[in-house]
Amino acid sequence: MYFDPKPKERREDLYDRDKELGKLIDLVKKNAPIIVVKGIRRVGKTSLVRVALNESQRNFIIVDLRGINPNSRRDLVVRFQMAINEALKRSNVLKRVLASVREVEVSKFGVTISWRRASVLEDILLKLQDERFVVVLDEVQDARGPVGKYLASVIAHFYDYGDLPFILTGSQIGLLYDFLGVEDPRAPLYGRFLYELEVSRFTREQGLEFLRLGFSQLGLDAEDEMLEKVVEVLDGIPGWLVHFGLLAKTHGASEKTLEMTLSQASRLALGEFNEFLKRREVARRRYEAVMKAIANGKRTWSEIKRELEKHEGKTIADSVLSRILEALVKASFLEKIVDGRNIEYKISDPVLEYALKR
Ligand code: ADP
Repeated sequence: MYFDPKPKERREDLYDRDKELGKLIDLVKKNAPIIVVKGIRRVGKTSLVRVALNESQRNFIIVDLRGINPNSRRDLVVRFQMAINEALKRSNVLKRVLASVREVEVSKFGVTISWRRASVLEDILLKLQDERFVVVLDEVQDARGPVGKYLASVIAHFYDYGDLPFILTGSQIGLLYDFLGVEDPRAPLYGRFLYELEVSRFTREQGLEFLRLGFSQLGLDAEDEMLEKVVEVLDGIPGWLVHFGLLAKTHGASEKTLEMTLSQASRLALGEFNEFLKRREVARRRYEAVMKAIANGKRTWSEIKRELEKHEGKTIADSVLSRILEALVKASFLEKIVDGRNIEYKISDPVLEYALKR
């Protein structure tokens, strides 16, 4: 079933992605040490990874690092604990294997890990390595600060001396590269070979076919003209198309349902943008003003600058705007489109653009 809000697990529930799936399965079979899966939020990275690992018949854990506290090792251990307990639904092997780690308590409810000894995670990872597990770190760029550094050095250690494959996913691509330290010789993962895979939004044709098939799976009718509009407005982002499909199940595939999708999805997208702003409290208004200017059609450097200066009633230094745009691109809220000597900025997610327009 396509219209399901959870990440997909099975091949038959995943629309297309044949190429990406083939490549990922191949890399997993080869035990590639670090695989990076990148793409904007809701494009289907987690679904791709889950289906690929199930198809490869490999055991795996998926550690969700979204919003992790960058200063708390304890939070990191909790995230691993959750991932292990989720993996227990697929296989019981971890209960037996982890029972020998002193800090791990195994009960009929699952496992509890005490975080007091710093290297407990490394011991657990060694056990996972023995059992030929794959470790997926979802939204790994959220691990910053001391926790990020520690995690990167653990991955580097296994790369150099071990045989435990890591799949790293990230939706904030520039920040993902920061985590990987691709440009920083002092970063733990600098210089390691990364297999990269990009998951893109659906093309217009794919989006349309996805919706048509999704509706036919439900035995529901939907007019093509309406579906074309949905794909255009939601710009082929699978997660948003699924959101529309789910609402259409009760409300029908109509203009009103599309509006409802936009308004519910806007809240989610704005919430995520606000999370990003939380870490930039001092310049919050500036970030907002820049995004609003772009959402309202000011796409070139000088147009954005003029709008920002109007908003603040004073001149803004080029370096200030430059830093703001760079941070927004790094976090994948903006895309920088270079066409010869012309540079324009575009909001990556049509839903966030819609939310900021109002
Ligand atoms: P990401 O990890 O990139 O944020 P998810 O894998 O969580 O994306 O997918 C977001 C939503 O879109 C989920 O509801 C998922 O089921 C759906 N989805 C994504 N890609 C596909 C696909 N190829 N076929 C069917 N559903 C998909």
